[in-house]
Amino acid sequence: MVDNIKPPSMLGILGGGQLGRFFVAAAQNMGYQVTVLDPDKDSPAGRISDIHLCASYNDISALNTIKKTCAAVTTEFENIPASTLEYLETDLIVRPSSSAVSVVQNRIHEKSFFKDNHFPVGPYIVISDTKSLDLVTNDIYPAILKIAQFGYDGKGQAHVDNEKELELAFDGFDRKPCVLEKKLTLESEISVVLARSYDGEQVNFPVIENQHISGILDISISPARVGSALSIEAIHYAELIASKLNYIGVIAVEFFISNGKIYVNEVAPRPHNSGHHSLDSCDFNQFDQQVLALTGTSLNNPKSITNAVMVNLLGDIWFRDGKLSLPNLDIFVGSTNEVLYLYGKSEARPGRKMGHFTITGNDIEIILMRARKIKASLSKNESEE
Ligand code: ADP
Ligand code: MG
Repeated sequence: MVDNIKPPSMLGILGGGQLGRFFVAAAQNMGYQVTVLDPDKDSPAGRISDIHLCASYNDISALNTIKKTCAAVTTEFENIPASTLEYLETDLIVRPSSSAVSVVQNRIHEKSFFKDNHFPVGPYIVISDTKSLDLVTNDIYPAILKIAQFGYDGKGQAHVDNEKELELAFDGFDRKPCVLEKKLTLESEISVVLARSYDGEQVNFPVIENQHISGILDISISPARVGSALSIEAIHYAELIASKLNYIGVIAVEFFISNGKIYVNEVAPRPHNSGHHSLDSCDFNQFDQQVLALTGTSLNNPKSITNAVMVNLLGDIWFRDGKLSLPNLDIFVGSTNEVLYLYGKSEARPGRKMGHFTITGNDIEIILMRARKIKASLSKNESEE
């Protein structure tokens, strides 16, 4: 297994969503070829890849093809079975490793990792069976019950205010293992996207501020408006998390700010939706970094060229009067500081991420206002007046 993998080697990526699509584009721009493994024949990354293996993540014949043809493999979402990564790891460079992914793909393991390493986390309790329900005390409410595995974008979460609601929610999750988190009063949410190389070098993007609606990221602002002390603390924790996990690749750490204090929320073992602004605001974006870390090439220290606001476009705005209809996106035509990305998903569904746009500029408050105005006009599914 060699490092410093040169183009036109074939790189593999497990998962074919929009994060995978941006990875494919970045790798191809650097001269690599890419194989995507995703069971969806229409997957956004599969559509633009050199080779799309349309198979499940534990399909042995597809995994053997990857072993034979790829020089290194990465992932674009955390729910790839750790056993798949372990299988590939025996013959191939896999970044991030199965051991790092297996910690962060399960909220119970992830929380224990934070606790064991003294990272600040909000109050929580593990709910693994009926007996653990009896250990819950009333001071945890209001709370959020989160299924330990396979949740994303607020899915697999239920807000609960008392014991009765907790029991119902736990039943609703088929009594699968969960964590119950105290609902914190949030002043803001921030994230750190960083890359760590095989020899431990780490480079980070500016700290990002995130606003969510119904548990789904709505708007990201770079740089975060939280002051330098909290930003420095966030970067410090993100770096420590990456090195404690022996992490190689791009990693994102989400934080809560509550009562002036910082808490680690969760870790994503991949580039992050909140880092999409880097496509337009930095000289080197998070997907470029993912390619460098994967191939064992020296990381670039990304420079932020401008401030940015990114807005997610969800499938909800693809509907008018209950019918599917592409929103009027003419506003973006010809603009260099208002850039639209569509992910090539053939089906729009409420809550499904269909694309995003990024507005760049020097004055954050002005670009934020502009972003909100465009979003409001798109939400009405009409052209901006
Ligand atoms: P996901 O995997 O869906 O991103 P998160 O745990 O990050 O799951 O939750 C999604 C969002 O829900 C968070 O970004 C935050 O806005 C809100 N949230 C989650 N947990 C808490 C909490 N303990 N207190 C307050 N808000 C929370
Ligand atoms: Mg999250």
